[in-house]
Amino acid sequence: MYTMTRGHFITLGATAAGAMLLPLRTMALPIRKRMNENQQFDVIIVGGSYSSLAAGMALGRALRRVLIVDSGLPSNRQTPYSHNFITQDGVPPLEIAALARQQVARYATVELRNGLVTDVIRTEHGFDVHVDNSTAYSAAKLVFATGVRDVMPDIKGFAECWGISVLHCPYCHGYEVRDEVTGVLGNGDKAFELTRLISNWTKELTLFTNGPSTLTTEQTAKLGDHHIRIVEAEIGELEHIQGHIEGIRFKDGAATHIKALYSLTAFEQHCSIPQRLGCELTQEGYITVDPQQRTSMHGIYACGDNTTRLRTVANAVAMGTTAGMMLNKELIAEEF
Ligand SMILES: Cc1cc2nc3c(=O)[nH]c(=O)nc-3n(C[C@H](O)[C@H](O)[C@H](O)COP(=O)(O)OP(=O)(O)OC[C@H]3O[C@@H](n4cnc5c(N)ncnc54)[C@H](O)[C@@H]3O)c2cc1C
Repeated sequence: MYTMTRGHFITLGATAAGAMLLPLRTMALPIRKRMNENQQFDVIIVGGSYSSLAAGMALGRALRRVLIVDSGLPSNRQTPYSHNFITQDGVPPLEIAALARQQVARYATVELRNGLVTDVIRTEHGFDVHVDNSTAYSAAKLVFATGVRDVMPDIKGFAECWGISVLHCPYCHGYEVRDEVTGVLGNGDKAFELTRLISNWTKELTLFTNGPSTLTTEQTAKLGDHHIRIVEAEIGELEHIQGHIEGIRFKDGAATHIKALYSLTAFEQHCSIPQRLGCELTQEGYITVDPQQRTSMHGIYACGDNTTRLRTVANAVAMGTTAGMMLNKELIAEEF
């Protein structure tokens, strides 16, 4: 027996109301009409993690037919516990995402599927989106919430410790290792800035430059004033037990004990399709967006880690909500 869900009821109601307004809504109807056919959506969101799900919820609640496609590789997947996101502090990241998915899936207006978006082609009416090199879906608008991919340095043990004891952000994990023997891995201005930041959480601090230091004389003196050591020896490996770092072994055979290591890792866009579609990137490599999360290409929005270095779940969610609301506003303006 077919039971009409609340979402279907609302969708059908919106279509019926639209039909009554003909011909005023003729521009909008093709999108609304296509909503009831297979494979056609108002919005397709590429990526299905925190930022995507926040955008999906805002759009689903705005009665937009939304498809979320996710390849299942959020950047914090190796981290045991996520912090600094209100109401979810200390919760495993995958649990936060699972709860978000569950809540978004309740909306009959939103569909979620696993898969990798492999290509997007701009069409007269919007975009054709290819998933896993086969299935194609169409949408009037796109949101890229695809995150970034951290590029692990060629140091044995680094990847295994990433997100467990090798850390990217003190606001996410600094409290848990406060006052511990801690290192910063990096060199130059950025490493100086990160070391200065981390000195807020611990005084037991060493900067490991992994080769000759490129700090200025002033920066070196400043770290010295705060009793922060600089070690230039090249790193051979991070010694650890199941990702929990115990020490650094240098190429010259020396070793030092350490409990946590902050690192300035390189990153790349997790998905290169926005660039292929013409979306501009910032000098740092993030997708350029305006305060409404619009990219430089009409009809394409982006949100979350792929657009900012302020990398937290809270920020990704905030940007996703903004993208969803602003995109719906754009659709209303085009239809009304
Ligand atoms: C090690 C580590 C620990 C962290 N710890 C914390 C913490 O404790 N607290 C905190 O607030 N923040 C933490 N963060 C930051 C937080 O993880 C990110 O800010 C957040 O995950 C960003 O969400 P997002 O949705 O933008 O991207 P992500 O969560 O990275 O998700 C992007 C999604 O898009 C998918 N995707 C990419 N390309 C495609 C494609 N072509 N087709 C389909 N899907 C695609 C990916 O598979 C992935 O599922 C941590 C980050 C790291 C790296």
